Amino acid sequence: MVRIINKALVIKNLVSIKSRLCPSTILVRYQSSDKPGEGVDVKRIRNFSIVAHVDHGKSTLADRLLEITGVIKPGAEHAQVLDQLQVERERGITVKAVTASLNYTYNNEEYLLNLIDTPGHVDFSNEVVRSVSACQGVILLVDANEGVQAQTVAVHTLAKKNNLVMIPTLNKVDLPRADPEKVKSQLNSLFKIEPHTVMSISAKKGWGVKDLLEAVIERIPPPSVNINGHFTAHIIDTWHDKYRGVLCLAYIHTGRVQVGQPVRWRSDTKQHTVKYLAMLRPSEEPIESAGAGQVVMVGCGPKGGGSVGDQLISVDVTDTKDLASIPPVKHMVYAGIFPADQSQHSLLSDAIRKLALNDSAVSVRADSSPALGQGWRVGFLGLLHLDVFTQRLLQEYKAEAILTAPSVPYKIKVKGAKVIKQYKGEEVIITNPLFMPEPHHVEEYYEPLVIGTIVTPVEYIGSVTTLCIDRRGIPLPSNAVDDRMTLLQFILPLSEVVIDFHDTLKSITSGFASFDYQDHGFHPSSLARMDILVNGVLVDELSSIVHTSRLEYTARRLTEKLKEMIPRQMVQVAIQAVVGGKVFARETLKAYRKDVTAKLYGGDITRRKKLLKQQAEGKKKMRSVANIKIPRNTFIDVLKR
Ligand code: GDP
Ligand code: MG
Repeated sequence: MVRIINKALVIKNLVSIKSRLCPSTILVRYQSSDKPGEGVDVKRIRNFSIVAHVDHGKSTLADRLLEITGVIKPGAEHAQVLDQLQVERERGITVKAVTASLNYTYNNEEYLLNLIDTPGHVDFSNEVVRSVSACQGVILLVDANEGVQAQTVAVHTLAKKNNLVMIPTLNKVDLPRADPEKVKSQLNSLFKIEPHTVMSISAKKGWGVKDLLEAVIERIPPPSVNINGHFTAHIIDTWHDKYRGVLCLAYIHTGRVQVGQPVRWRSDTKQHTVKYLAMLRPSEEPIESAGAGQVVMVGCGPKGGGSVGDQLISVDVTDTKDLASIPPVKHMVYAGIFPADQSQHSLLSDAIRKLALNDSAVSVRADSSPALGQGWRVGFLGLLHLDVFTQRLLQEYKAEAILTAPSVPYKIKVKGAKVIKQYKGEEVIITNPLFMPEPHHVEEYYEPLVIGTIVTPVEYIGSVTTLCIDRRGIPLPSNAVDDRMTLLQFILPLSEVVIDFHDTLKSITSGFASFDYQDHGFHPSSLARMDILVNGVLVDELSSIVHTSRLEYTARRLTEKLKEMIPRQMVQVAIQAVVGGKVFARETLKAYRKDVTAKLYGGDITRRKKLLKQQAEGKKKMRSVANIKIPRNTFIDVLKR
């Protein structure tokens, strides 16, 4: 009986899974006698994740799994229930991995299934990496209509590397153009997957989903953990709750944990007490205790702390063994974030701190700029990540921020390291072009490279190759996916792919090619810092680091673009691109006086005032350099080709 009431409450709560993301949590209270999942035998736990290329149906499949296990009503009006963030709903993409603990009875035994829905876009791959650290298996989902795509290759590699059991599954078999046999042969030729092991489903219609769930139970092994022994767990996600402080998603490796138990963080000696313990279904369901193999929410109160990658352990643990191997995040782009005006500094600071807790892939460091005041230099996994981060700042914390032009990190070897005091080490990572030392201090420049994987129809091989070579790419051996599709790989400079490579690739292949990349480390390169002067004054935010073979091209592109983007002003504006004192390109913007009230003939004074007010508002969004007003969005848009 209690279970049914629980479900009703859970359904009601689903709308507020946001409780993980905003503090308006409605707690569901249980009688202590009936807590499904608590004290479950490890042999009947399965931890798995759904991985796939973007849009191949991960979140839709998660919906069906929630329905089969009774968490939501079939035919519920909300689709992709696990995509709870406003950005996810608006953009139709998953940016956060979400966990749901499900109960399922199979062969008269009750199983606890921990499902993690993951994002597909390369900018959020860190979410996938963290998620699989708590999994023994994955459902590798492939759209039967589109076949293997670039991210299918990437997630397959990741699953392989983590020794996870894979359940290859074709989705969207309901579509008339679906060709399951062909996709099976792609899987076979690329990954040596036997066609008879491939499942076929339609996540939308629910076809084959039950069989898939049972395959999860049969094929994926239970976690190999030790229920005896002292409690140890590693943290795979954190988020902030207004009243309860930091809440963590933990994967328990050994022993049991109880509310009230004394614990500590591996990184710290201070003792804490477990205050909150819950299963996520996906809304919170408080429990009293949990055991090894489970993925649960823990919190140690407002001062309890917690961060991704750290370990929560019983105070009795004395060894210093590392539990999980969550690889450190490699940031692909850095940008400055500044408050619109300094009075909002503390609001923005608080928002960034809380959001960074929920998005462990960002790195935040204090930064300051003569023009924009106190702010932060923030590292991201890509431009979409940057975009989503600033959108979340605005939507979830009402904090508006100004961004400076994003830049990839570079490495330099400093000549005679002692000469420049601020560089203590010999090799320095430069995340802000402004801090690139003068050439005579640099012994060697290094730039980050990636290995780009592109899956494209054969007819576009020529134009894709031209694009990659144009972006300074070096081709690697290619691979036929089938008679129609090819997998191409290139070593590419990160700076050439990060801004608009994906868009360009999509447009030259009519949207048919897909792209993914992996870090390939720093390699020696020939670089220079290009500065932009507006009427002779340096615009900090527009400095960039450019490959020396590209100086003229970039200089011309930047100045022409800026000429288009900067509105005409009362005075003439000279825009120059300069490297080491030498001018590479120059554009001039003619003077012009914009009289916004010119169109009004006589008439109402209030109308005139309103127009002038609108103009004043617009000016606030401008950054003023040498009395020249530059619209804020210029700093990012100018980099796009
Ligand atoms: P994700 O990016 O992998 O999470 O993909 P989503 O679950 O958001 O699904 C992407 C799109 O594919 C949505 O419009 C779904 O409605 C659609 N979709 C998912 N599964 C199926 C299916 O089995 N059949 C059909 N026809 N469409 C599907
Ligand atoms: Mg999704």
